[in-house]
Amino acid sequence: MLNPDERLQVLEDLNRLRKRHPKLDMPEEMLRQFASPPQSPADCVFALTTQTLSADLKTKVTPCQFGGNPDCKSCGCIASMGLAAVAAHKLGGVVPVGAIFKASIAVGRVVAGRQLPTVKSKTQSHSGLHVLNSQIPEPPSDASSG
Ligand code: SF4
Repeated sequence: MLNPDERLQVLEDLNRLRKRHPKLDMPEEMLRQFASPPQSPADCVFALTTQTLSADLKTKVTPCQFGGNPDCKSCGCIASMGLAAVAAHKLGGVVPVGAIFKASIAVGRVVAGRQLPTVKSKTQSHSGLHVLNSQIPEPPSDASSG
């Protein structure tokens, strides 16, 4: 695990490398997100838009793919920072994509009648992961198309 100074040093190095090697797909906007990652899974676009299942393909891993108590300030997930960069982008220089995204999630939850992730649910611990019992329906047993 990198300490904050080491993390900043890595970001500065990556920023230098990105300028020296244009093929390195490392936009500055994304590096900026690594410098100020989400505060919690509730602020993380990636955590809010993905669902991770354990190896049994039934047990949900929440609140993010890293399990129950993620250290967001140390997060090195490029998908999370990439989506954070998209959310930080302002449409027309005014409206942040993240605001539209959060409104969309709120509407979707109301329509779907789903609980917010902060609502306490029956949980279990497994291999250091904070997991939520799955209620995903079984796939159909007959996969033939007729
Ligand atoms: S650990 Fe990373 S991916 Fe998980 S919620 Fe925090 S910022 Fe998002």
